[in-house]
Amino acid sequence: MKRNIGNLFIIACVVLTVIVWFAFPPENDGRANFARQYAGEIIGSVNIVLMASALFISTRPKWAEPYFGGLDKMYITHRRVATTAFLLIFVHVLTVPISVTGWKLGNYLAVIAFTGIVSIVLVSLAPRITYLNKLTGGTYEGWKNLKQYIGIFFIIAFIHSLTIGKPLHALAAINWVQIFFIIGTVSYLYTEVFGRYFKKYVPYTVAAVKYPNASTTEVTLRAKNNSIPKQRAGQFLFVRFPSDKTLNESHPFTISSAPHEDVLRVTVKASGDFTRALFGNLKPGTDAVVEGAHGLFDYKTGGQKQIWIAGGIGLTPFLSFIRDMDGNLNQEVDFYYTVRHKDEALFLEEIEAAAKANPRLKVHIRYSATDGSLNVDDIVKNAGGTITAHHLYMCGPLPMVQAFEKKFLALSVPANNIHYEEFNFR
Ligand SMILES: Cc1cc2nc3c(=O)[nH]c(=O)nc-3n(C[C@H](O)[C@H](O)[C@H](O)COP(=O)(O)OP(=O)(O)OC[C@H]3O[C@@H](n4cnc5c(N)ncnc54)[C@H](O)[C@@H]3O)c2cc1C
Repeated sequence: MKRNIGNLFIIACVVLTVIVWFAFPPENDGRANFARQYAGEIIGSVNIVLMASALFISTRPKWAEPYFGGLDKMYITHRRVATTAFLLIFVHVLTVPISVTGWKLGNYLAVIAFTGIVSIVLVSLAPRITYLNKLTGGTYEGWKNLKQYIGIFFIIAFIHSLTIGKPLHALAAINWVQIFFIIGTVSYLYTEVFGRYFKKYVPYTVAAVKYPNASTTEVTLRAKNNSIPKQRAGQFLFVRFPSDKTLNESHPFTISSAPHEDVLRVTVKASGDFTRALFGNLKPGTDAVVEGAHGLFDYKTGGQKQIWIAGGIGLTPFLSFIRDMDGNLNQEVDFYYTVRHKDEALFLEEIEAAAKANPRLKVHIRYSATDGSLNVDDIVKNAGGTITAHHLYMCGPLPMVQAFEKKFLALSVPANNIHYEEFNFR
């Protein structure tokens, strides 16, 4: 329940916005198209509430993570809220009566806000459209850089609502929406301007760089001031390396070391520009900046019987769990680690040694190219015929995680028992 409070709160704010508009309706001043103006302003207000919520989530408030189920889930909410707001812009534009004469400041601001928001959102929603992609270079970082201007258009959109020719007299609704305008604006300024003075960016040095296989880098980071961030096994951090142009981008990686270690380790698969540069260029002695730890992927909060499923580099949170155990695992765990070929499997000896030291940990390694894909029937059989009382922890490629989630729900596993880490914020 707790992890749904954030989403329910946003829905409640939207519903309340509509209620305020109906509870304190504007006086009908006899203008033509009063009803359309009324409906259009309600939709515009809902838009401001949704955009403010999206801007708030972008501040990455650690204290709010439990109310959404973790930062990765907050970004899912962010995406949905922003998409809904985007679609509502069109509904708003089609609903409000637009006169072609007598334009006031608000009308011009509306055009600027509309063009700005629609352009930015289109680019982020349609990464595969070549023409749009050219604006961002097709990269996540390019998209992030462009997206940072959306708050400016949010501010313009709100000012537009106050400066159109004949706004409706709806003081209560305007005051209510103003609260969200302030929340959105402060959130935006926090993210883009002054947040850096409050967030804990901790200086580290790269202590070691290892290559556990032909496409993976293990980076060991040592805090310059010996202050390891407070963390639980399974959490992730953001790291960048300021002295290298390509590596000076903040990227999220799970901490694959155990919280009791005096260093942080991340294990990174080379998949795009940043991670390939990390594999090719990162040297011991390089400066790093770390922010975190974030996330709620924590098996210790689950039940006595557990099933863990790691696909490919999705192994990393489970590595941290295993390294944290110290031979004292209390839960009964079936741990499935699936990769295509044997040479892709990481830290096998260590995982098998952990299974020996922790008799409750049963490890099942699956090479999908030769053994076939991991399937639910095998998982249920190994669990004794039923998994409805198990807690399931998954991390891996999104299609794999989604397919398993669907099958587990179909087998009547309660949704609250299914936990997964999204390796994707977009
Ligand atoms: C919570 C979390 C934990 C993760 N843990 C690990 C891990 O332990 N090991 C590992 O190898 N990978 C992990 N990842 C994935 C890793 O962050 C991406 O593979 C990496 O950022 C890709 O960057 P790139 O430039 O190499 O690839 P690109 O091809 O540029 O990006 C590939 C995808 O990665 C995501 N991405 C890219 N840049 C960023 C960014 N700055 N911030 C957020 N997402 C971005 C986007 O979805 C993008 O579409 C994790 C991701 C998340 C969200």
